[in-house]
Amino acid sequence: MRKEKNGPRCSFCGRDKSEALILIQGLEGHICEVCVEQAEELIQDELYAERPELRKDEFSLQQNVTPKDIKIHLDSYVIGQDDAKKFLSVAVYNHYKRLRQSPKDDVEIEKSNVLFVGRTGTGKTLLARTIAKYLNVPFAIVDATVFTEAGYVGEDVESILSRLLQVCDYNIPAAEKGIVYIDEIDKIARKGDNPSITRDVSGEGVQQAMLKMLEGTEVNVPPQGGRKHPEQKMVKIDTRNVLFICGGAFDGIEKVIARRVNTQVIGYSSKDTENYDRENLLQYINHQDLKNFGLIPELVGRLPVLTYLEPLDKDTLRLILTEPKNALIKQYQRLLELEGIKLSFSEDALDYIAEKAIDFKLGARGLRSICEAIMTEAMYNLPSEKGVESFEVTKSYAKQQVDRSKLAKLKAA
Ligand code: ADP
Repeated sequence: MRKEKNGPRCSFCGRDKSEALILIQGLEGHICEVCVEQAEELIQDELYAERPELRKDEFSLQQNVTPKDIKIHLDSYVIGQDDAKKFLSVAVYNHYKRLRQSPKDDVEIEKSNVLFVGRTGTGKTLLARTIAKYLNVPFAIVDATVFTEAGYVGEDVESILSRLLQVCDYNIPAAEKGIVYIDEIDKIARKGDNPSITRDVSGEGVQQAMLKMLEGTEVNVPPQGGRKHPEQKMVKIDTRNVLFICGGAFDGIEKVIARRVNTQVIGYSSKDTENYDRENLLQYINHQDLKNFGLIPELVGRLPVLTYLEPLDKDTLRLILTEPKNALIKQYQRLLELEGIKLSFSEDALDYIAEKAIDFKLGARGLRSICEAIMTEAMYNLPSEKGVESFEVTKSYAKQQVDRSKLAKLKAA
């Protein structure tokens, strides 16, 4: 090997050991960290921009994962919702088995897009987000209500894929096996059976526009999304391996289910009707109910995995406060621990927070605003107080803070 004068130098820029943080030795010379970074940029700009398929796949899927492993992982972040977790674990497992299927296999496994039905704040988005993180695939959340048919004010459905591209820094092969969560899918249901005099631009038309994308096709995507950049060059994304998870509250669908359940049991003994849990009819939801609610049959057909999320009762809400890996209470405790203060909550304070969340009818989403109302004053004052080592939130303190906050007014309104 050639020996440089006065010790090794970077063979590209000439920096010596005193100027470079690291000099990596090769067969015939050295390279410093600055030149490595510049080389990486060149590869990104010149090679991958022209030939994206060559890009290294940092979003690789883990091997040897079973549906049970997936569910166990979900358990540490999402409380309850066992049925939804099982359905999702199997759907995702099969989806990725399908990705590995040989193109020569004559039994083609179909896509297992998922539909979650459940009230707001019960964990639909959380489930989708947790699964995507676990699988290490790009994940985008979009809201179905912003879409309108092409040609109308609003966004085209293609911009769903723009979001996915953006989260993985325009890495097309990664985006092509990502997960998209489409929230509020119920809001694009057809309004009423009667085709209206005004066009239903945000309803059936959008459902129609989504069909091909959900099933799997090549879509021309505006990389920056929206219609504000008409000059942008379209990017082709193949959605065959993108997993779509849709979610919605489907307000009022219980009535549709009740009607079906009742007609089903006519002519049988009254015992059959009693077998249904009237308090939680959502668990009996089927694809027919979705059609009756206003989703077009083609769209329903492209969301084969249908499952429901249970409403959260007080006990579940209380568990959500303390049990998940990144539970809210744990987060506040960590924040104050960084100040050297040990934060605790009395049992009845936790009960109180859970009860309040039920009052607000926002599911677990309400927990966050209640905790903020309770903790803001303490988090404002404690860092400037000297010598405080611990702080306990009691029920009376919690109640006092909530009553003083804007939340109390919200409830009164
Ligand atoms: P939605 O069903 O409306 O999509 P989200 O998944 O966005 O509800 O939930 C809102 C917040 O409530 C989440 O950030 C999460 O912290 C919490 N949450 C909701 N359901 C659960 C649950 N079952 N387990 C743990 N946390 C939950």
